[in-house]
Amino acid sequence: MNVLVINSGSSSIKYQLLDPDSARVVAAGVVQRIGEPVAEGSPSIEHQSEGRTFEHDGEVPDHATGLRLVFDLFAESGHDLAEAGLRAVGHRVVHGGEVFYEPTLVTDEVLEAISQLSALAPLHNPANVVGIESARELLPGVPQVAVFDTAFFHGLPAAAKTYAIDAKVAAAHGVRRYGFHGTSHQYVSGQVAEFLGREPAELNQIVLHLGNGASASAIRGGKAVDTTMGLTPLEGLVMGTRSGDLDPGIIFHLIRTADMDVNDVDALLNRQSGIKGLAGVNDFRELGRLIDTGDAAARLAFDVYIHRLRRYIGAYLVELGRVDAITFTAGVGENDARVRAAALAELERFGIRVDPARNTAKDRSARYISPDDAEVAVLVVPTNEELAIARAAARLVG
Ligand code: AMP
Repeated sequence: MNVLVINSGSSSIKYQLLDPDSARVVAAGVVQRIGEPVAEGSPSIEHQSEGRTFEHDGEVPDHATGLRLVFDLFAESGHDLAEAGLRAVGHRVVHGGEVFYEPTLVTDEVLEAISQLSALAPLHNPANVVGIESARELLPGVPQVAVFDTAFFHGLPAAAKTYAIDAKVAAAHGVRRYGFHGTSHQYVSGQVAEFLGREPAELNQIVLHLGNGASASAIRGGKAVDTTMGLTPLEGLVMGTRSGDLDPGIIFHLIRTADMDVNDVDALLNRQSGIKGLAGVNDFRELGRLIDTGDAAARLAFDVYIHRLRRYIGAYLVELGRVDAITFTAGVGENDARVRAAALAELERFGIRVDPARNTAKDRSARYISPDDAEVAVLVVPTNEELAIARAAARLVG
């Protein structure tokens, strides 16, 4: 029996219908530009089912309409969701705050609590709530399960999750490091243990989730002990459009001297920074092409990205003391050999080596990129957040 997984973002909904046991994907798709005008030649909904593509071209005014149209496409493609005997609907929810740290069956109270956490994730949690509400309406009898992006990091040690600010202010406003991409870090670290044929409890790992958003985690014996994202997904690594770490004084400086208000700075740091802010593009394929043409801004963006990444790899090597595996995952981590090689260059003295032929091999499955005799296993492991959410939801409903 299948699970429908919904990842409802601020202007998009990604979804998959899949079997959590076999990992077989029955159908998948994306609703884009919700609430925006139609774009010529670019469908607002693309739905893939058993090798066929179904599209919707009209404007999608809101999430509820988007999901209703998706349900129509399911029916059109021969998988009427109302009749499919769904086991559950699994929802990706970005912020679980202090309240949620396990997959949770959605009730009115749970939905209200997720909504209350919107102050911590204003771009994400409201969209997640709308996605859950719409799915409940369209599939009234099916259990809805929320899976939180912060959950895997709930147990971070106090020293890793505490910001050095006035403790009373922090407590009153929920200011601590929560971490994000937890579903991916947990899934990938589990896959690493399986790939190596070892128990998760025996392994110290660094996982580098490098997508458009990016984060690193240090995992000891299956438990996260540090991660780069914090109160929000803005902290840490340089990302496609986000700055990652910076001197917080920059924010005050810009507000005082650049005629920017807090929303301007928020938009600057979340959407106009990172690789995009430095090189003008945020896709690493584009960035690679620019670097190859000798574009100096693109080169600098790459160097800043790698500098930050190496800083955290170094920090986590020290924190963990002994590292068994370093794993690259997500869009950039799985595909960009240049990033992987630069991230781990000249670390032989720490037992870390990347084999150039393995690193550049075209292979989409979990694999070694370190030589056979290397002390530290360096791996590329595809992430699969949808499968992880589907499995979590199926486990919860039994
Ligand atoms: P994600 O957020 O995990 O979906 O990753 C999306 C990002 O992965 C894109 O913005 C690209 O920067 C990067 N990406 C995807 N495919 C490739 C590729 N073949 N080579 C380099 N980067 C890629």
